[in-house]
Amino acid sequence: MLLISASNSGFSVRKASGERLNNPSGAKVSEDLLNKVVSLAKRRGFIFQSSEIYGGLKSAYDYGPLGVELKRNISNCWWESMVHAREDVVGLDAAIFMHPRVWKASGHLAEFSDPLVDCLNCGGRFRADKAPTLPPESPVTFRAGGKSDGDELQGTVSDRGYICPLCNCPNLSAERQFNLMFRTSIGPVDPLDKAIKKIVHGRMNAKEIRKTVEEALQPSAIYLRPETAQAIFVQYQNVQQSLGMKIPFGIAQIGKAFRNEIITEKFIFRTCEFEQMELEFFVEPGTEGDWLDYWSKARMQWWQTFANSTENFRLRPHEADELAHYASACYDIEYAYPWGWDELEGIASRTDYDLRKHSEESGSKLHFFDQQKEDPETGKPGYRYIPYVIEPSAGLTRGLLVYLLDAYTEEGGKDADGNDKIRKVLKLHPRLAPIKAAILPLVKKEGLPERAEKLSLEFFQSGINARFDAQQSIGKRYAKHDEIGTPFCITVDHQTLEDETVTIRDRDSTEQQRISASQAVQFVLDGLKK
Ligand code: ATP
Repeated sequence: MLLISASNSGFSVRKASGERLNNPSGAKVSEDLLNKVVSLAKRRGFIFQSSEIYGGLKSAYDYGPLGVELKRNISNCWWESMVHAREDVVGLDAAIFMHPRVWKASGHLAEFSDPLVDCLNCGGRFRADKAPTLPPESPVTFRAGGKSDGDELQGTVSDRGYICPLCNCPNLSAERQFNLMFRTSIGPVDPLDKAIKKIVHGRMNAKEIRKTVEEALQPSAIYLRPETAQAIFVQYQNVQQSLGMKIPFGIAQIGKAFRNEIITEKFIFRTCEFEQMELEFFVEPGTEGDWLDYWSKARMQWWQTFANSTENFRLRPHEADELAHYASACYDIEYAYPWGWDELEGIASRTDYDLRKHSEESGSKLHFFDQQKEDPETGKPGYRYIPYVIEPSAGLTRGLLVYLLDAYTEEGGKDADGNDKIRKVLKLHPRLAPIKAAILPLVKKEGLPERAEKLSLEFFQSGINARFDAQQSIGKRYAKHDEIGTPFCITVDHQTLEDETVTIRDRDSTEQQRISASQAVQFVLDGLKK
């Protein structure tokens, strides 16, 4: 397993043993692919460590000028396909803060936790459900303190059937449930003031102090949402009634979510602050199986539309013991990451769990009344029911990592002197590419920059994100735009001044053709429709 963690000095990479590496396309997807993508992301302005000049904040990332474009392009494509292209889905943009009772009703306060374990050898903390598994009683070797120069020790895997992912040690603390929601407080009064007074005046033991602090925090406690879905359930009735939506219909949302993850890992794969693209699709009870199949296939197809290596995506049904407390069935869309198959999106059949729980907790009747149908129980006209829900829930930031991994390519070739050279190309789908066209004067003199700027203006006016670029030699500019995934480079040269033609270079084939300057905008627009 490649573990990439943010440290004060940047990213550290560590290889842990005892885990699968089962990529179907081993040639391209190699262990150091992630390192190369991390390096390119920083060097070319896609993703920076948060607060880097202060040593960086663990697991927080900022999306630079190219990263923000790529992220927006992915979310726009998702929105177009999920909302704009359908009559039966509408959008929502809800607040991150919600009434605390939402999280009580949804089960997040009681259930949204991961099993946390401490390694008694190296002191590392990890999630039991993500640890490398080995059959009980298997012999294992590990090093004292998890140090590479520590004494070699022998151990045996316990009945739990897993070992520490950091040092392989089987001697572990008991599992304890760790709630992943971030808690803060709302309002101008510091809730701790009251607790501190009480603690100072009473002689309390640790248990009493904890209880006093909890009681003080509770009245103003508020949570950063750990998923965007709950706001959709809570607004189900408002949306359904205000737009007169008929079942089946869906509500889509893209937004930030926050989880106090036990381990943040693998660059932006698992972070505490991330973005989700979620759809809650409300259906009649009894039809959820068909809709689960429909959405699993539709979502799989969507990811593959923008990918080069479609075989690196797969649909995996959940085993019964993997299902979340609200789900009756679930598929994961998985990607062949450099460390093996892992989750990209989950498509869950959530039954009527959420709407039922919110109905009970709030007293609002979150049902649907279908006048056209008979009640299956009474046989009378009119059918009132709590809708069932199919939820395709995708990580936007995780999806961005997937498309960077999918697009990163190195091609062998020769330079002008016949020496071997490697061309680095980000083969992003043109619709995802941050910059669609680079407008390049061949040289920075003789009227070429002026003519190129005029052409750039035409691109801006057409709403295409193009960039005028006159720095460095033309070869270096081509190399730069290959590396950031710009699908078209348009060069204004001396011939342009004579006959109003330009060359247009295709990123993937590197082939150039000469076209009329007046056709350049349309050429790029056609290329974006691919
Ligand atoms: P995992 O098993 O990886 O922890 P999950 O099953 O808890 O994920 P869901 O609750 O189903 O994830 O969330 C839906 C999607 O949100 C995931 O498929 C993933 O793409 C994304 N996601 C979840 N947690 C994170 C995170 N900490 N960082 C980045 N993306 C995340």
